Amino acid sequence: MVYLDNAATVPLLPSVRKAMHEAEEKFFANASALHTPGHLAMNKIEECRVVLAEMIGAEPGEIIFTSGATESNNTVIRTFEGHVIECSPMEHHSILEAARLYHGDKLPKLYSYMLYNNETGEKLELPVRDDSSFVHSDLTQTLGKVAINVKDLGLDYATFSAHKIGGPIGVGALYVRNGMLFKPLLVGGNQEHKRRGGTYNTVAIAGFLAALQYARDNKTWDIYNQSVRKLRDALAKRILAEIPGSSLNTDVSHGESLPNILNVSFEAAEGESIQLYLDAEGVVVSTGSACAAGDGKPSHVLMAKTGDAEIAHSSVRFSFGLDNTMADVERVMDVLPGVIDRLQKISTIKRS
Ligand code: PMP
Repeated sequence: MVYLDNAATVPLLPSVRKAMHEAEEKFFANASALHTPGHLAMNKIEECRVVLAEMIGAEPGEIIFTSGATESNNTVIRTFEGHVIECSPMEHHSILEAARLYHGDKLPKLYSYMLYNNETGEKLELPVRDDSSFVHSDLTQTLGKVAINVKDLGLDYATFSAHKIGGPIGVGALYVRNGMLFKPLLVGGNQEHKRRGGTYNTVAIAGFLAALQYARDNKTWDIYNQSVRKLRDALAKRILAEIPGSSLNTDVSHGESLPNILNVSFEAAEGESIQLYLDAEGVVVSTGSACAAGDGKPSHVLMAKTGDAEIAHSSVRFSFGLDNTMADVERVMDVLPGVIDRLQKISTIKRS
């Protein structure tokens, strides 16, 4: 299998699996308990907090563990219930739908702009905070791919998720700058200094820690920027040269896009059909984002970017990980031209 859906989730790293097995045995206790097994579990959690804080240029006390990016995003937006909330149109649905529910007209205002988009990999300009505004950024796709410093980025809030860097699904974090407005989403427990109720998921946090250590020790952002970017760019070049009617939705001409994502539209071929045909050949890709899969709507990101439903419906996202090689690019190019040709021939949409 050639797995090119790493932006949806990255397979568990071997060191993560090991750390989680160890945690199941050693750190089983309730981490809030005052006894020794409880302290051992809490020490593991605090170790993860310190490593994440160091990696993003924050203080450990500014990190809150959550169940993932969706919860982190919902928490920030809900904190600003009744306030002016401005989001980029490219945001993940966990921002857009929460903003639709909670936006109002009070100040201070909240900006929510992701740094890199999960469907196209493009970089967004972050707004600058002022006396009457705060800035949140969903850095789910950025962590591990590009070095991050939340202070240099001027952020007040930032969202992270473990499973995009080889950690487990169901754990993430929220950075909240000291002194910022904050309203817990989950109440009814003193955990996380009353900022997020619920018994600690120590095993998942131990897995998150191992994934963070892997990223830090291997400087994965350098690997992405060098080797992974080469694979992505090689695929882009070959697609454009070899497949009639193809056009890129990711700008690979400069170093500004996320190095592992390539979004391409194929004239008169439908994205979901391409995905299924490639799947039958053992090549795993996605259309838009997995979270919106199956709703039949064109990607809101590509609609915002191009305004063209046909381009949006005919798009496919190839997202690379650290395990991919040039042989994977070759395998894709062995099957993709034939798949597109077959679909274009049976299409009712005329190629221009
Ligand atoms: N934000 C972005 C930018 C994402 O790519 C994703 C995952 N598709 C999420 C939020 C949701 O992450 P999680 O699965 O951790 O809730």
